[in-house]
Amino acid sequence: MSKTTIAVDAARLPILLTELRLPTFARLWPSLAETADAESWPAARFLAALAEHEVAERMQRRIARHAQESRLPPGKTFDAFDFAALPMIGKARFLALAEGDAWIDRGQNILLFGPPGVGKSHLGAALGYALIDNGFRVLFVRTTDLVQKLQSARQELSLAAAIEKLDKYHLLILDDLSYVQKSQAETSALFELIAARYERRSMLITANQPFGAWDSIFPDKAMTVAAIDRLVHHAVIFEINVESYRRKAAVARTPAARQPKPPLEPQEIDAPRQLP
Ligand code: ADP
Ligand code: MG
Repeated sequence: MSKTTIAVDAARLPILLTELRLPTFARLWPSLAETADAESWPAARFLAALAEHEVAERMQRRIARHAQESRLPPGKTFDAFDFAALPMIGKARFLALAEGDAWIDRGQNILLFGPPGVGKSHLGAALGYALIDNGFRVLFVRTTDLVQKLQSARQELSLAAAIEKLDKYHLLILDDLSYVQKSQAETSALFELIAARYERRSMLITANQPFGAWDSIFPDKAMTVAAIDRLVHHAVIFEINVESYRRKAAVARTPAARQPKPPLEPQEIDAPRQLP
């Protein structure tokens, strides 16, 4: 083959590879071609090597994109989480949930209850990051913000479309559900979201208040019961009953205040609890 033919091919390749959306091919082929020529690789080996790199980087780019769109709070990963502070939450248990698979496929839910500062949001976010690494899509929202969004969507007669748009997320993390108050107009939109995802798409909910206090969230008692019923039907429920990690950290920084505290009784509940 003449040198000119090779040069022409080399000049066309960047355009062709861009058209085919193969950026890794485009970046790596010159150096891999040199190696292939020097080591007399068969053509198939050269092609397979490039294709493998493209697939691997594509997966990495997808994961990076999903992490970006997830709006997960930065740094709140399992690596940064001290499971020893939560004796009732088995690390292995959570790492198993991070594999996704069965519970995500069935649209099951995770509910994290506990007072402020015990690590609910961190734990939820960490699970979100791990699921993204395993190829799932996750969105983290403050529930009050989401209710506002859904409310504007309803005003524009596009509530159903807005809820459907969230379907692309295998897991929707609704942080601080109990900060939603029915005085915030249209909390029934939140119920419609819960009903729409029921048995199809998973949700992870964090809340300071147990179910008994959820009457203040939804417009009426019937809707509260219906929402809780759908959420708990297929759910893993964790009650985190420890001292606030924030407070503990602050106390640890204040030498004079270092007083031993009686430990609170840890408990974990797997089965749905009694409805109010
Ligand atoms: P909650 O959502 O229950 O109010 P957060 O998840 O926001 O609590 O936790 C409060 C702060 O303490 C965050 O900065 C969080 O990263 C940190 N934190 C809580 N629990 C742990 C833990 N077990 N290990 C490491 N950091 C923790
Ligand atoms: Mg929180």
